[in-house]
Amino acid sequence: MIMEKTMDKKLNEIMNDNPILKQVAEGTEVFWTNPKIEQFDSVKDSLPIGMEDIKDAEARLQRFAPLIMKLFPETQKRNGIIESDLIEIPNMWDSLVRDSISGAPDHQTERTERIEQDASGSDFGRLFLKMDSDLDVAGSVKARGGIYEVLKHTEELAIENGLPSGEFPREFFSKYKIQVGSTGNLGMSIGIMSAALGYQAIVHMSCDAKQWKKDYLREHGVTVIEYEGDYGEAVAQGRAESDADPMSYFVDDENSKDLFMGYAVAALRLKGQLEEKGIVVDEDHPLIVYIPCGVGGAPGGIAFGLKEVYGDNAYVYFVEPTEAPCMLVGLATGLHNEVSVQDIGLSGQTHADGLAVSRPSGFVGEIMEQLLSGEMTVVDSKLYDYLRMLRNTEGIFIEPSSCAGFQGPVALMNAAGKCRANAEKDSCLPDVMNDTTRIKEKLPGATHIVWATGGRLVPQDVREEFYNTYLR
Ligand SMILES: *Cc1c(COP(=O)(O)O)cnc(C)c1O
Repeated sequence: MIMEKTMDKKLNEIMNDNPILKQVAEGTEVFWTNPKIEQFDSVKDSLPIGMEDIKDAEARLQRFAPLIMKLFPETQKRNGIIESDLIEIPNMWDSLVRDSISGAPDHQTERTERIEQDASGSDFGRLFLKMDSDLDVAGSVKARGGIYEVLKHTEELAIENGLPSGEFPREFFSKYKIQVGSTGNLGMSIGIMSAALGYQAIVHMSCDAKQWKKDYLREHGVTVIEYEGDYGEAVAQGRAESDADPMSYFVDDENSKDLFMGYAVAALRLKGQLEEKGIVVDEDHPLIVYIPCGVGGAPGGIAFGLKEVYGDNAYVYFVEPTEAPCMLVGLATGLHNEVSVQDIGLSGQTHADGLAVSRPSGFVGEIMEQLLSGEMTVVDSKLYDYLRMLRNTEGIFIEPSSCAGFQGPVALMNAAGKCRANAEKDSCLPDVMNDTTRIKEKLPGATHIVWATGGRLVPQDVREEFYNTYLR
């Protein structure tokens, strides 16, 4: 850790050199393109992980598929593989392109201006939704990383203790604990899976966690410990308690390579789904993916996997709330987990409970540094606007955190639209030769994917409450 005084000075210098960080610090929505992105081939070999690690994770998930099927019968439809659909959402696309987001007057002006200029038949490509919001067992993207890590730990314990291959007796695992710190969804994933295998599962929940998630976990035999502090505190406390107990294993969202690899498998699966749909990804047909980001593990793992599979033809953007853009701050300052959103004067508080993280994972930030195309930030009020728009146009419900992804295509198209029209040079995409500049000519052939990260388990009454929430 850098000493506090030195840190302040360093941060001040960085902020002064970087106008976009000033906007971030004011809580303004931004679209940041990553100046450090490199061609994937030139970065690949310097990364601490590679395609073999993804394949290893995929093989492990295959080995556990029979057990998953037994524990969670709803997974039988995919033979014990926890996976989600990729669906096209043309009505939402129409709505995003044509309409403005209700209640956001500035935004409306911007959109109208662009759409008019593009009315001559300009084409932005197609929009899809990756439905991780519907994933079995945990109802969120955390079903990927969380379940994978619990399974990997289980396999290791079984081997160390000489259990017969393929047998996982509950009474054996009931001697062990698995603990995790969470804003909600990771706790759901780790808690449900661990309890189903027989472990004593303990979830340390930050103040952002929703009541229904705590209730759901307790109903499933999970011990929930509640904190008044934020995610960072819940993790620190959980880690300390677990470390003090030799029978306990801590799932460390801030540093876990296993979680990361579980998420990365998504890319192999997506490749199969795109091929099935006959969707081509190549130099003229970019794959542009927008993923809501909290501490970084889920979007980072997916992004890494996509770069491994598609290289420079995959463009990945993270989306964060304006009050908790920890990954953006970590990347743009280069300080990663040594800087928090509070250090630049933001609250860290947001309605996007899954994204309410103040300090990014350093492990993920360093991997993303040369892979990520950029980031968008979004104000909380729009999360509910997107939520309504998606339900009204496509009949699909996803949770507010998950709706952040829609800011991705909106911000990118707005920027691209202005560039094409060349109306305002200043607000045009940066002229640096980064990959976002390359995309703008290729939009007609583009496949956009908004990654829906959570929603299936949200109770009906809470869904209605979200649908009727208007923030100003
Ligand atoms: C956890 C979560 C994310 C982001 O994942 P991180 O690993 O925290 O970056 C996004 N959306 C939802 C709904 C989540 O629960």
